[in-house]
Amino acid sequence: MIRSLTILGATGSIGRSTADVVLAHRDAFRVEAVVGGRDALALAQMAKRLGAKFAALSDEGGAATLRGALAGSGIESGAGRSAVIEAVDRPSDIVLAAISGTAGLEPTHASLKPGRRIALANKESLVCAGTAFMTDARRIGAEIMPVDSEHNALEHALAAGRNRDVEKAVITASGGPFRTWPREQIARASAKEASAHPVWSMGSKINIDSATLMNKGLELIEAHHLFDLEAERLDVLVHPEAIVHGLVQWGDGAVTAGLALPDMKVPIANALRNRERLFMDLPRLDLAAIGRLTFERADEARFPCLALAKAALRAGGSMPTILNAANEIAVEAYMADQIGFYAISEIVESVCSTFSGSGRVPATVAEALAIDGEARDMARRFIPAKHI
Ligand code: NAD
Ligand code: MG
Repeated sequence: MIRSLTILGATGSIGRSTADVVLAHRDAFRVEAVVGGRDALALAQMAKRLGAKFAALSDEGGAATLRGALAGSGIESGAGRSAVIEAVDRPSDIVLAAISGTAGLEPTHASLKPGRRIALANKESLVCAGTAFMTDARRIGAEIMPVDSEHNALEHALAAGRNRDVEKAVITASGGPFRTWPREQIARASAKEASAHPVWSMGSKINIDSATLMNKGLELIEAHHLFDLEAERLDVLVHPEAIVHGLVQWGDGAVTAGLALPDMKVPIANALRNRERLFMDLPRLDLAAIGRLTFERADEARFPCLALAKAALRAGGSMPTILNAANEIAVEAYMADQIGFYAISEIVESVCSTFSGSGRVPATVAEALAIDGEARDMARRFIPAKHI
């Protein structure tokens, strides 16, 4: 059966991998719409490659360029917020949500429709507004399938038993580019060095989050919302080979794990089709050739962002929303060479400890976004003035 698909963040790293999966299975998918941020030409090219019916660019200023690039193709286009909403309102069986950052929350939330599957890569949606998002998904009757490799592995591992029998669900971290670096060297690391991920090829924001291990912290919060597991039953394990992605330890001592070579096309294909399993012409995992897999504990002294995210998860209320917002501002400043590596965690910590009234869980996406905005403003004030 052919499923129709809309891709949010079609020009990004996950979007491009999704296009590869879809083009290898033209008989299984028909692309309804593609959504991109600012790059009109890349979006037009992607829309043509995929034979989409509609292309929406979030940046209003790119409307004419997009229209020009699609002239004669028969593909409709639009730009600005209303065009993005039109894209998600068009009928499609699946929406693959891969806009990066909290910018993805509104369109991903607007994608929730009865009977629709949301293949969710945009973890920030759940970190910023997880309770409201998951409540709305259940009420509307939309299915959420995680694309994030660790959560995709956990989704299947958890299906082997009951939630109440889970002692611990563990997500692995490759450890990022600074896993073996001493603190003094990490302190001087440039954004370019932080972006050189040893295993995964990804977008710029998640690259920095992987270097600070904030990505793993955000993923703990993501797992909490996806699988209804409290902080005490969630853990992180550093595993540089990135072959084991998620493990579930059951009450009887058994462990169920999800393994795959580190290629996002595997969890993407899985999230698009779930248990129907698409055939993927990718290299197979050869454990004998790999020989050994290694594991170690995460070092929260060198990677304080992980400890901050864990604390936010335990604190609950709107603390994860605040943490996520402060992190985005700090990461932007780091990428712009305005602050050093450890200023990211310092800014996040300052905002989390200064923000007052964080006790209540945001009940709606709008409420979460209002808190997100306030936390961003506060974070900007912690960026040294001489650099602004
Ligand atoms: P990316 O930066 O490569 O791509 C982001 C995409 O979002 C681009 O298409 C961009 O044009 C679009 N975009 C940005 N702002 C937008 C806006 N305001 N409106 C509409 N579109 C906008 O990022 P990525 O690495 O593909 O990551 C996307 C999401 O998937 C992130 O939330 C990330 O955490 C998550 N994720 C990524 C990976 C990975 O391997 N790359 C793995 C797991 C999860
Ligand atoms: Mg991940």
